[in-house]
Amino acid sequence: MSTLVRGGTVVTGDGSTVVEPGAVVMRDGRVSDVLERWEFPAHFDGEVIDASGCVVMPGLINSHTHGVTPGALFPSAAPPLPEHRWMGHLDRHLLAGTTTVLNLCGFASMDDVREADRRHAVHVRGATTHLPNCLRAAETADGKGLPPDAGDLTVERMLEDGAIVIGELGGGQTLGGGGQDLVYIPAAIEKASGIRISNNQARRIKEAVLGRFIDVKAINLVELAEAAEEAGLAEAFTATELMKLVADTVLPSITPALDGIREGVRAAARFGVPAIVHSAAATGGVIRELMTDTRNKDVRVVAAHANHPSHTPAEALDLAKLGHDAGWAAEASVFDLLHRKHTVTTREHWDLLLQDPGLISVLATDYGHDGHHDELISAVQDVAASGHRSLAGAVAMAASAVADLIPGLASGGGRLERGSPADVVVASAGDFRDVRFVFVDGVCVVRDGQLTSEAHR
Ligand SMILES: [Zn+2]
Repeated sequence: MSTLVRGGTVVTGDGSTVVEPGAVVMRDGRVSDVLERWEFPAHFDGEVIDASGCVVMPGLINSHTHGVTPGALFPSAAPPLPEHRWMGHLDRHLLAGTTTVLNLCGFASMDDVREADRRHAVHVRGATTHLPNCLRAAETADGKGLPPDAGDLTVERMLEDGAIVIGELGGGQTLGGGGQDLVYIPAAIEKASGIRISNNQARRIKEAVLGRFIDVKAINLVELAEAAEEAGLAEAFTATELMKLVADTVLPSITPALDGIREGVRAAARFGVPAIVHSAAATGGVIRELMTDTRNKDVRVVAAHANHPSHTPAEALDLAKLGHDAGWAAEASVFDLLHRKHTVTTREHWDLLLQDPGLISVLATDYGHDGHHDELISAVQDVAASGHRSLAGAVAMAASAVADLIPGLASGGGRLERGSPADVVVASAGDFRDVRFVFVDGVCVVRDGQLTSEAHR
């Protein structure tokens, strides 16, 4: 099977090459040529796609996703999503030009990961957090998605079975973050009172009780009274009851989750694989400790969402600079800060970290609100349009830089060059979210913005 994509601006993904107008030739699942205008063939023995007005780039690689397999969800090992949801998440990744995802729900099994990989055109890769403290943190916060044999699995066995990183180490669900606001605090309040509150109301109550750094000494009774009133809970709970409910929901998993981060980075050193650590206000202390520990100097550690909004912008910048000096890599997550703005309403951290040319090496999405994150390809366009990187540099942050950072995620991928896998995206130059065509291994899986029958297997 052969395809010629011609006439668009070809951004090869290597960080510097742009061919305008250029053409990409795919044969037998591989890129066989990247051509310049005067080399375009007059006749071609396959499908010819006119990419005028479009950008042609490698299929994007997203190193921070959740909920893209039938396995346990999040670092808290919540119950798996039903099939239509995890397949739906993969559909949305693919329709937005992402052809490879790393599932950072570290308690999904490799059978779960392989099932997703087999059934959907997106390449799905897996991670592991099968470590004693990570497991304890998950079981304390939730753990309802754990299979009966989860306690028998180890990081070593998972890596032998194909997992490629240790992560996500820590998470909002186990560390008093957004996952608590969205799921566990509202559930505990509903169970006790029958009243359903929103994630913003839960966050306000949690911060009144425990502050931003999750500390019982941070209690602010005036703010708690106002937050309870605003959430319609003033009649249902006394201040003491609400404090106890929040503390009992949030605190028990914190110590094992923080110890799990230390344990995960040690395991990464032992097994020679990358560790991906949840960066947020709640983990800032442990991250600083690990960054300055010289025993970790040869470990590849990635600070996930270095732009997490629980940091103040100045804290995020400080931590990213410390990480840079310690040899850590940093990923910036777009969350939903560009368009949907449900979980993250500020782009201050994003711009502050990205405007420094050396601090952020890769872009990802994380989960957003219930899986509705902004598109990775939109993050790429934003980074270029904001002047933080050239277009070639921005594409590389979701392509070759990710493939290079995480061995096994997309070997030879993230680049359009002779011999690389034919994972190719054609998107409107005006709005990259208008993705016209996507090819995976040379097979057309998105045509005119719609999934083809080849997208599901
Ligand atoms: Zn995270």
